Amino acid sequence: MISITLKPYLLNKKHVFRIAGGARTNTPIVLVQLQFEHFVGYGEASMPPLYGETIASAVHFAKTFDFSPFESPLEIIKILTAVDNHACGNTAIKAAIDIALHDLIGKMVKKPLYQYFNLPKKDLKTSKTIGIDSSEIIKKRVEEAAEFHYLKIKLGGDNDEEIIKAVRNVTNKPLFIDANQGWTNKERALEKIDWLKEEGAIFIEQPMPRTAFTDMEWLLSRSSLPLIGDEGVQRLEDVKKAENFYHGVNIKLMKSTGLQEAFAMANLAKSLNLKIMLGCMSETSCAISAASHLGAMADWIDLDGNLAVTNDPFVGHKVNNGYIELNDNYGIGLIHPNWEKIKAYE
Ligand code: MG
Repeated sequence: MISITLKPYLLNKKHVFRIAGGARTNTPIVLVQLQFEHFVGYGEASMPPLYGETIASAVHFAKTFDFSPFESPLEIIKILTAVDNHACGNTAIKAAIDIALHDLIGKMVKKPLYQYFNLPKKDLKTSKTIGIDSSEIIKKRVEEAAEFHYLKIKLGGDNDEEIIKAVRNVTNKPLFIDANQGWTNKERALEKIDWLKEEGAIFIEQPMPRTAFTDMEWLLSRSSLPLIGDEGVQRLEDVKKAENFYHGVNIKLMKSTGLQEAFAMANLAKSLNLKIMLGCMSETSCAISAASHLGAMADWIDLDGNLAVTNDPFVGHKVNNGYIELNDNYGIGLIHPNWEKIKAYE
C-alpha cells in the first residue's frame, strides 16, 4: 500500500526576482513524501503564480487521489495515467507525485535515476539566471556568478539594451536569453535577435507571447539564433507542434507533469531534430536533482533554481565550478532527507 504525506512550504528567494511580467520574493511549493513498505520517496510541486496552481489546489488534488487500487510503485505507468486523469491541469502536483514515485522505484531497484532511464552520467554545465534589475545590481549578480560557464539573462522589459550593457561590462561569457514573451512586435524582435547574436547570445527563449503563432512562424524562418519554446511548450502534445514555431523546447518537470513525460518529450524532440533545454522553476534540490538525471539528453541545462533560495530543505547533487555533479545514491540522490524536521508552512 502506497501512502502519501504532504507539507506545504514557502521557498524564499535570496533576492527579489523580476522577469517580464512580474516580480516575487518567494514561491509556494508542496513537498510530497510517498511511502511503500520500508521505502520512502520524495517529490515536490513548485507553483509560480503564473501557472495557476496554489498550495490549496495541490493539496486538494493529492488528498483526493486514491492510491489504494495500486499494489506497488512499480505499476508507475498505471499510477501516473490515473494521476493525469484525476483532473486536468495541476501539472506541478502531478510532477510531485511522479518525482516521488521515481525516487521510490530507484530505491527499490537500487539505481540512481539516470541509470533507471538508461542514460549516461555526464557532468552538466548549468547556466545561472540573472533577473531583470538595475545595472548596478546586475553587475553584482554577474560577478557573484563567476563559477558558471553560461549566464541566462532575463529580457523583455523596456531596458534590454541597458541590461546587456551591464552584463558585458563585467563578462564576455556566452548568454542564454529569455524574453519571457516580452517582445510583442515581430520586426522589433528580429532586430533584437540580430543584435543579441552580435552580443554573444546562444539562443532566445520565448521571444514572443505563447499564442503569437503567426508571428512566431514569421520569426522562425528569419531568426539568426535558435528560438526555444518555454511558456509555449508545456507537455508532450506541445512538442509535436513545436517545430512550426521553435527550433527547440525548454522541458521543465513542473510543466511536463514530471520525469516520465519529460523523458518522452525529450525523446520526441530529439526525433524531430529540436534542440533540448532542461529548465526549472524556483525549486528545492529535490526537483532540481530529479531533473538533472535527464541531463544527458539536453543540449542546454538551466537547472539553478535551488541555488537562488535561502531555505532549501534538501541536499542533493553538488554544483562545482558551474557543473552539476550527481551522486550515485539510489533514486533522486537526496542525502539524509530529514522529513520530520521540515517545518510546514501554515
Ligand atoms: Mg523561460
